Amino acid sequence: MRKSYKTEINPTQEQIQKINKTIGTCRFIYNFYLAHNKELYNKGEKFMTAKSFSVWLNNEFLLNNPEYLWIKDVSSKSVKKSMENAYTAFTRFFKKQSRFPRFKKKNKSDVKMYFVKNNPKDCFCERHRINIPTLGWVRLKEKGYIPTTKQGYVIKSGTVSCKAGRYYVSVLIDIPNTEKPKLNNFGLGIDLGIKEFAVISNGIRKKNINKTAKLKKLEKQLKREQRCLSRKYEDFKKRNNKMKGEATRQNIQKQVLKVQKLHHRIENIRADYINKCVNEIVKTKPSYITIEDLNVKGMMKNRHLSKAVASQKFYEFRTKLEAKCKELGMELRIVDRWYPSSKLCHECGCIKRDLKLSDREYICECGYHADRDYNASLNLRDATSYKIA
Ligand SMILES: [Zn+2]
Repeated sequence: MRKSYKTEINPTQEQIQKINKTIGTCRFIYNFYLAHNKELYNKGEKFMTAKSFSVWLNNEFLLNNPEYLWIKDVSSKSVKKSMENAYTAFTRFFKKQSRFPRFKKKNKSDVKMYFVKNNPKDCFCERHRINIPTLGWVRLKEKGYIPTTKQGYVIKSGTVSCKAGRYYVSVLIDIPNTEKPKLNNFGLGIDLGIKEFAVISNGIRKKNINKTAKLKKLEKQLKREQRCLSRKYEDFKKRNNKMKGEATRQNIQKQVLKVQKLHHRIENIRADYINKCVNEIVKTKPSYITIEDLNVKGMMKNRHLSKAVASQKFYEFRTKLEAKCKELGMELRIVDRWYPSSKLCHECGCIKRDLKLSDREYICECGYHADRDYNASLNLRDATSYKIA
């Protein structure tokens, strides 16, 4: 099985320069290849494959145009890959699978720096850093996300990309078909919610990360920068025809980047948190996990709740959990949204119809009392009617 992992990196200034230069050169080569073939076509000459273009570039073009020798400054593997990508774009066009290849624009295109394992020491990955050919050791932001070399995983190739001023590495790893872990003889019920992200039937509670001081601060900051951006737009519209137009345009561009960066940062924190929660849950190796269907309580229909629900990434949580369960051979049970997980007494099974959202404690006439969400998680765990994801 081949799996790809993408995560943010924390390159040094020097590495950033190298990455940008490589991506810039690759974009240039990609466009050059398209342009050159267009020219050949117009002259009625034969189409050049990536291989023949590479030979022509090195043996003819660069000899006659030494001012372009900077092409050789960056990783040749990456440059070669961009020729191959351009060639693939052409072949797809010839097979009528896609439209005529387009030129890659700066900042708007998906050009990446490609690397491949050549030497035993290449692509060595540790918990906190990865060795990328031509860049050296690059720090990873999320420690331990990519399986490490010491664990026996081998990275064959990968790419480095940049989006909104952030840098990412994506690697391909061959995962041997390992045996699935031995699962424990118990199940887990998870009650997802707004107040707390998750309450698990083993007693573990996961907080709503949006309620942490750090995220509240970032959200506030984002709102402020967004307001600042719309102010700048208004301002720009007003003095559209004046001399200051160009300066303002740059100003707006800067602000857009600022907003994007903040947005990404917030999204990353949320995504990281979801990953951590999923990992923590499956770590206990239950034989099954039960959750409620996503539309629980019609939360998304409620305008006041829908933003809170969206920002908690329940959908992503379920997708990640489902993938993880599949990988480890655990059963993921989905309980119907009409199942009264909160209203059911876990002890005697009677249903408390007048339970309000504000009741944090579940108190039953039979003498049982428990935290409301914990009671719900126990009921989910023991639910007998469910579908398997
Ligand atoms: Zn009871």
